[in-house]
Amino acid sequence: MSAPEIKGWCPGALRPMMSGDGLVVRIRPRLARLTSEQALGLADLSRRFGNGLIDLSARANIQLRGVTEASHPLLIDGLRDLGLVDDDATLEARRNITVTPFWRDGDETCQITEALEKGLAAPDAPELPGKFGFAVDCGPTPVLQAISADIRIERNANGLICRADGCETGMPVTERTAAEAALELARWFLGTGGAPDGRGRMAKHLARGARMPEVMCQASATQTAFSARPGETEIGAMVGFEFGQIDDELLSELGTPGPIRVTPWRMLLLEETRAAPTRTRGAARSGDAAGRVGLITEPNDPRLRVTACTGAPACTQARGKTRSLARKLAGALPANTHLHVSGCTKGCAHPTVCDITLVATAPDQYDLIRDGRAQDAPAMTGLNQDQIQEALNAPQL
Ligand code: SF4
Repeated sequence: MSAPEIKGWCPGALRPMMSGDGLVVRIRPRLARLTSEQALGLADLSRRFGNGLIDLSARANIQLRGVTEASHPLLIDGLRDLGLVDDDATLEARRNITVTPFWRDGDETCQITEALEKGLAAPDAPELPGKFGFAVDCGPTPVLQAISADIRIERNANGLICRADGCETGMPVTERTAAEAALELARWFLGTGGAPDGRGRMAKHLARGARMPEVMCQASATQTAFSARPGETEIGAMVGFEFGQIDDELLSELGTPGPIRVTPWRMLLLEETRAAPTRTRGAARSGDAAGRVGLITEPNDPRLRVTACTGAPACTQARGKTRSLARKLAGALPANTHLHVSGCTKGCAHPTVCDITLVATAPDQYDLIRDGRAQDAPAMTGLNQDQIQEALNAPQL
């Protein structure tokens, strides 16, 4: 079996990526926020120029699916009118910044993100690998530590720090100096050989033995284990979606009352909504994938403990189906167990360790990995769906 192809870059709006169901067009809203007009416009564009399915990514990006080569230029015109596309593909790729969705107008997260965006758009900006990203996480306690990022600006007991991912200490910074410190750290990463062939991540670079200058490691990080759940927050109602996918009708419905913030937990934060909404339209759409798209408003919904990538047939690299199996297994999962179903060993939907990972190896055939990632050695191989069910019910799980 050949290994899945590692592309080493992420799709953008101006540089989309081909998948089994057409082009994937990724949008990075500024401060991860859509105004009501942008949300409604995006829903309309997804319906007219894509297949109406929209993925929420683990870096708080939005992906429109099913776009064609012919509809892509028209989609870009529409995104430009909504202020949702960068001037060029280079700027778009560089602006890889995940922000806490709990920011307030004009606070440190807003100011630092704006300064960082400016720095990354400057002619002398570091030429970073496609997957290299920043987390701006300046709330009272960090909430993004489990989210993929290479350089983190966050708060410890004494104030803000800028630290390299994989390092438990960082450099004390202020709102004024944080963005420049982050760019300096990015230059150090490149200058010390972090991306020899144009690819590389900070934590791996440190794990290979790269030594950081002392000045960059003077302050201890405050470690937190934040877990996002649907429900009321100080900003508005947080809602989740089965497999982090939403359709154009639901996006339009949720965006009508007010602005929406996109979170890296594949949930949306509805600014003008306090009580969790219920789906009134869209769910009734039948005969296509969108008819199964589900809104999750209960914090204990078992679907929150299941992650599954697109799988077959929408991803060309998938060896088998993922979401139908994950949906079937969700209700029967043992308590406190998280399940990841992956269409191949790449493990896009959950790159880190999971309690149980199922990796498709052929149609209706899966390998089972315990406490590992999709690339790790399986504990059981070649299972069909009945055998998986038995394995999940086994006492040693
Ligand atoms: S993990 Fe899933 S989405 Fe990623 S390449 Fe494999 S099949 Fe496709």
